[in-house]
Parts: sequence; C-alpha cells; structure tokens
Amino acid sequence: MAAVLQHLQRGSTGPAVSVLQQRLNEEGATPPLEVDGIFGAKTEAAVKAFQSSQGLEPDGIVGPLTRAALGIAEPGPERGGNLTDLVPIPADINPGFTFCRQTTMLNTLGRPCTLSADCTQVTNERVLNLLVENEDVGPFRVSGLGPAVEALKRIFAEVQAQEPALFAALGTAGMLCCRRVRTTDGSISPNFSNHSWGTAVDIKIDGQLDPRNDGQALRGLLMLHPFFNREGFFWGAGFGGTSEDSMHFEAADELVRDWQQQGLLG
Ligand SMILES: [Zn+2]
Repeated sequence: MAAVLQHLQRGSTGPAVSVLQQRLNEEGATPPLEVDGIFGAKTEAAVKAFQSSQGLEPDGIVGPLTRAALGIAEPGPERGGNLTDLVPIPADINPGFTFCRQTTMLNTLGRPCTLSADCTQVTNERVLNLLVENEDVGPFRVSGLGPAVEALKRIFAEVQAQEPALFAALGTAGMLCCRRVRTTDGSISPNFSNHSWGTAVDIKIDGQLDPRNDGQALRGLLMLHPFFNREGFFWGAGFGGTSEDSMHFEAADELVRDWQQQGLLG
C-alpha cells in the first residue's frame, strides 16, 4: 500500500510547501525564506521559530496544530491516507470538458466494429490505420488510437515527475476494446463504448479496480484526474446518473474535435 505524506516536514516538496513558506514569511520569518517549494533546513528553522512563538511543540513538523495556527487549509481528500482509500468525488471535476458524445465519434471516425457485448475485432479501416499496438506509455503498455496513446505518454511522464508514489501504483484494466457501453442497471446500450476507438483507458491503483456507481473514487484516481484534464481527457467519475465510472478516462468531446481539426484523424 502506498501511503501519501500528510504532514509537511523536512524533505517535503511541492506547492503545499510553497504556500507554507509564503505564510511563514508573512509571519515574519527572519531572514525571509525563498519560496521554492523545497522544505529544507531554513524552512525547518522557520517552522520551529513559529511554533515556539505560538507555544507549540517546536518539532519542525507541520501537522494539524501548526497548520491551524498558520491558517493553512487541511489537505483535501486527495491527500493523506492510502492511494486505494475510497473518497468522495468532488463536484468541480472536468472543468470545461464534456464526455465524448457518440455522434462526435461516429462523425469523426465512423462505426468501428459490429456492436456486441464483448471485445470484437475493429473492422473500420480508418480506425485501424490510426491504432498503435502494445505501446509503452510509462507505467504499462496499451493498444489504442495514436493521438490518445501519445497523450497518455505525456500524462504519465508528468505523474512520474510530480507524484512518483502514485506513478508506481498505476496499472491498467485496458484501453482498446470494441464493444457496447456497459450499463449498471442491466439495460442494453445502443452505443459503442469509447474504448471501441481506443480513446479511453481504465486505470487500476495498486491492482485495485474502482467500484462503479458508488459516488466515490480511489484516492489515487482523484489525484490522477488533474493530469488527465490537463491533456483534454474527461474523467468518468463525472458521468451522470448511474454511470459513474471512476477508473475510466476518455478523450473529451472537445479534444476529439480538436484532433479532427488538426488533421490527426486521417
Ligand atoms: Zn472504461
């Protein structure tokens, strides 16, 4: 189980440390700290001085009491605990992105295969020409549509640089699979899943699948979604009704239309 550091202390890095340094400077850290997001000896000394001034144990570790004294918000549900904990799905996910509509896929690439319940062979020549097979995208290999696979490489390179523990926990439950949409209520969907064109990928965290339609997500998926959003992917946690599917990420409607405009879809 990969644990995520909750307290800020010597060795911590990232935006939360920059916020801390900024606040310590506002509290009169002498000499003022460089706001570089790296918790080193100077930041630790400033934390201890602040703790002493507040009557707190001067241990140099920024936990709940020191946070409260500094007025720094508690970490959100994406911080603390394990990557495989189930946490609530926030309301403000997928800003500006729409799940990819069936009409958009059919208009840009066409029907990919014969619609059926299980994965079947792609028969659409245009799609076949754009598929890449068994490509290494960092944490695992996938088969999928060329532009989507290229985006995954950039996404996972960013995750590796910024969240190495999360990167180490990533696995996949598949990308390309030409089939109908799976429903949670037993109904038969008339639509192709976006996996049918290889523009969607399902992610496992530490080998675990996220349960669908429970309004919660594995913490690792919550941490992952901004990286996907930045590349124009929609997180399936935002599917409405009974369709919540937090392991699923797909090229958003906006991104697919953008690829078409750029001539990337043949
Ligand atoms: Zn999926």
